[in-house]
Amino acid sequence: TPYIELKNVNYFYEKTEALKDVSLTVNEGDFLAIIGPNGSGKSTLMKLILGLLKPMQGEVYLFGKPVSEFKDRACIGYVSQKSNSFNSGFPATVFEVVRSGLAKKTGLFHRYPKDAEQQVKAALISVGMQAYINRPISALSGGQQQRVFIARALISKPKILLLDEPTVGIDQQNMQSFYRMLTHLNTHHDITILLITHDVDAVSKSISHVACLNRTIHFHGYQQELEQLPD
Ligand code: ADP
Ligand code: ADP
Repeated sequence: TPYIELKNVNYFYEKTEALKDVSLTVNEGDFLAIIGPNGSGKSTLMKLILGLLKPMQGEVYLFGKPVSEFKDRACIGYVSQKSNSFNSGFPATVFEVVRSGLAKKTGLFHRYPKDAEQQVKAALISVGMQAYINRPISALSGGQQQRVFIARALISKPKILLLDEPTVGIDQQNMQSFYRMLTHLNTHHDITILLITHDVDAVSKSISHVACLNRTIHFHGYQQELEQLPD
């Protein structure tokens, strides 16, 4: 069964048709990017997958179940675009931010399992941020913060990671190593990854598929493929 499946989904706000007849399949092991300019419906698509919006037509399935019946939230790690904007002046350390990802799983705030520290360390190692465990999150660069938020999402041991514009705030020099880290999660930690971005240039060659909303392109040299798309 696919991890995520959208079948002929339509979604419109009062006057705006945000998504029209969108079909998409995300299988185990995929590293998929959805690209599209601002206003093309990427956030709407993410909200449909998260069950925050209901399609007017079509179906959204998670692990073979209609999204409305899917209750195991821990299977899905989500890093929103807003994750790294709320924390300026936020006093929390990297340790506290990552540990807070466990609260989602247990539903209990301030009561963490005995091995919480081990779990935080393992999550930080998987994103290459173990050296920063005691730093205040606000002291880190955009790319480092993004890695910490990914670690927070990973601590509930999801099968799939949804990333909303993860490369915003990452400079060109750090982009390659950021994608290497994602590729490592994908191949060594068996994390299926779906990311959305407006930044075609930021899409790495390590990504296995790119979906341009309505059109799924299987590709190796993505730039050539993209140039062949009709406007
Ligand atoms: P993207 O994430 O690609 O920028 P969105 O999914 O946010 O695209 O938006 C798709 C379209 O739907 C846009 O035209 C946007 O203005 C519109 N839209 C998004 N959210 C709302 C909303 N809550 N009410 C009305 N229109 C909306
Ligand atoms: P995002 O792309 O993360 O949704 P935005 O800044 O585009 O962030 O939108 C912020 C909020 O406003 C979102 O919840 C979105 O659905 C809503 N929104 C976006 N476009 C419109 C619109 N044209 N009319 C009303 N609400 C909108």
